[in-house]
Amino acid sequence: MSYGNEEVVHKQERQDQTVDLIIVGGGPAGLTAGLYGGRARLDTILLEGAAVGGQMTTTDEIDNYPGFPKGVTGAELTRLMEDQAGAFDCQIISEMATEVVAEGEVKTVKTDQNQYRGRSLILCPGTEYRKLGIPGEQEFTGRGVSYCATCDAAFFKDSKIVVVGGGDSALTEALFLRKFAKEITIIHRRDKLRGEKIYQEKAFAEPKINFLWDTVVEEILGNKTVESVKVRNVKNDERHEISTEGVFMFIGVVPKTAFLKDVVELDEWGYIVTDDSCRTSVEGVFAAGDARKSFLKQIATAVGDGATAAFAAEKYLEERQG
Ligand code: NAP
Repeated sequence: MSYGNEEVVHKQERQDQTVDLIIVGGGPAGLTAGLYGGRARLDTILLEGAAVGGQMTTTDEIDNYPGFPKGVTGAELTRLMEDQAGAFDCQIISEMATEVVAEGEVKTVKTDQNQYRGRSLILCPGTEYRKLGIPGEQEFTGRGVSYCATCDAAFFKDSKIVVVGGGDSALTEALFLRKFAKEITIIHRRDKLRGEKIYQEKAFAEPKINFLWDTVVEEILGNKTVESVKVRNVKNDERHEISTEGVFMFIGVVPKTAFLKDVVELDEWGYIVTDDSCRTSVEGVFAAGDARKSFLKQIATAVGDGATAAFAAEKYLEERQG
């Protein structure tokens, strides 16, 4: 349930109350925590400043989330999860959390517009795509350089493009881009892919996709838009230029936890450290989803995290009430 204009009054009331549970982030982990929080009859609000669904929304086809044998689009799965959380009275507020004060019994979350108080807190800020940091990358972002195939693929109809990376994102996004582009070169810094075997098999079988191994992109060149990339073979140091109209970067993700640096314990890469019950270093504060330090980062694991974190928050609140 999102707040419309007529519900501004309710939003104001929320700021004056101390709710049971505040969830920061509306990806699959946050939406599942919202569903479980609502079902536990906790007074629950979820803050999401960008699009509800998180990175799931920019995924065209999800075929490894159980229950959808024919696959499901990220947009559809988001809609279903949002509806289900809303059905159990989790209130979604479209505001971006910018600051958290977690010490003490009552936790405060400041957003770009307001401030909310809660007796417990679940952090699900998610991750964002890593940048390569090479010349031309920033300059041509939105003019040939992209981090989202679902968002930008249509601009590259019948184009020759490159995809950088060798993980699940690079492979699944290249497989999606083949519906638009006429030729895709996956440029990977090693000679072995990191992505799931099933995606590797699909990519190897796709005539439009070819691979450039042991190669890194060093510069992106162009005029108004991207025209070529300069690459280097890391084994023999040979350099050459490849003409291309688009550069899709999928070289991993970084957690969106800068605002939590002094709030909860983070590991050296910025992931939130928790125990098996999703409890962070601060009492009453839990973490779930891709920004949590964990072995696997999938929608299925984010959903499991969200359920665990909400259950742990419920138990924490029960203990407080005696
Ligand atoms: P990832 O698994 O970390 O893979 C990143 C890829 O980029 C790796 O191949 C890595 O090379 C390469 N790379 C990293 N830094 C680089 C650099 N500076 N220069 C050149 N190449 C670089 O990241 P991801 O593919 O974005 O996936 C993130 C998480 O989401 C993973 O857990 C993944 O399983 C999950 N995911 C799942 C699905 C799915 O199941 N459908 C889809 C998308 C993402 P090396 O291999 O040499 O390290």
